[in-house]
Amino acid sequence: MTATHRVLNFSAGPSALPLLVLERARAEMLDFDGTGMSVMEQSHRGKAYEALHMRVLARLHALMGLGDDHEVLLLQGGATQIFAQVAMNMLSPSDGAGYINLGTWGEKAEAAARALSNHVRNAAKCEACLPESVLIDSAWKYVHMTSNETVHGVQWPGALTQVPFDARGLDVVCDASSDIFSRPMRLSDYALVYAGAQKNLGPSGVTVVSVRKDWIAGGRSDIPSIFQWRTHAKDHSLHNTPPTFAIYMVDLVLDWIDQLGGLQVVAARTDEKAKAVYGAIAASAGFYRCPVELGARSEMNPVFRLPSEELEARFVKEAEAHGMAGLKGHRSVGGIRASLYNAVEPSSAHALAAFMGDFATRVG
Ligand code: PMP
Repeated sequence: MTATHRVLNFSAGPSALPLLVLERARAEMLDFDGTGMSVMEQSHRGKAYEALHMRVLARLHALMGLGDDHEVLLLQGGATQIFAQVAMNMLSPSDGAGYINLGTWGEKAEAAARALSNHVRNAAKCEACLPESVLIDSAWKYVHMTSNETVHGVQWPGALTQVPFDARGLDVVCDASSDIFSRPMRLSDYALVYAGAQKNLGPSGVTVVSVRKDWIAGGRSDIPSIFQWRTHAKDHSLHNTPPTFAIYMVDLVLDWIDQLGGLQVVAARTDEKAKAVYGAIAASAGFYRCPVELGARSEMNPVFRLPSEELEARFVKEAEAHGMAGLKGHRSVGGIRASLYNAVEPSSAHALAAFMGDFATRVG
């Protein structure tokens, strides 16, 4: 059976899932792995689920380029919970930390930490650009960064393989919610990396966290145990009922990535899609304008403006009539945003680019 009506989905998250993954989930819905039940209906302590769970942890660990000194946790509460959880585990009220703020999400992470310590400082701030320098205080417990600012369309190139600034020996925490798994990764340089699954990895409901073992051991033990890393690490993220269906879907997405040919192939698709959309902006003789400086433009969430808000509204409406959904920019910034996560096919990005060219010619 094939899907009858599928739009080209450019939503910022939750976002498109691979059609093959959805079809497989549908096929396995009534009987997962010969159990005669869907994966949602069985105990998280049962053999079938446990095997799936451990497989997902191992696959994530390998694909994220981690060594023995890191553990992967599967948590709930979204990246937003991790904003608070990092500070809860690592900061006492007299401890400091630095936050690099390139947009909405970095700002929210910083605000969450400020609620727990009076010594949280801004380490760098830059709108629509990358910081020229990052303030470092050797007394800080860590520096926090966001590899891809989903709302503002700003990305730090190379952050999935190395810390992209000189942290001078300080531990670095990275919110990679919106670009994790978009390229081959080596996240072992970071003390902690986290990402909600709902963009590149699966549905909402599960948050993937890579955390170094000394952070697990050294985290505060005077906070509620459910927020301590060690609680989840000790039980392989099976301390309490995990979001079983979301984790199952992550497994299917990882199968799909394998079938594509792995993260190298994902990276080639990422390049192709970003090139198509930014190419359409460049070819429009100024009709479309990307507010983000070259070198900081997000491959995952290209943002652009049209000459007026009226034209932006018309663009979104006409795109919808052409079967393209999710293009309206975030309500806080306006404009257009085309999210090009892993499950968005390159052909969808080319279709959008062709529509952009046609719209600019007709209206510009
Ligand atoms: N960080 C980034 C970079 C995000 O894009 C988002 C969600 N769009 C969040 C954090 C918050 O994630 P959640 O809604 O899963 O808490």
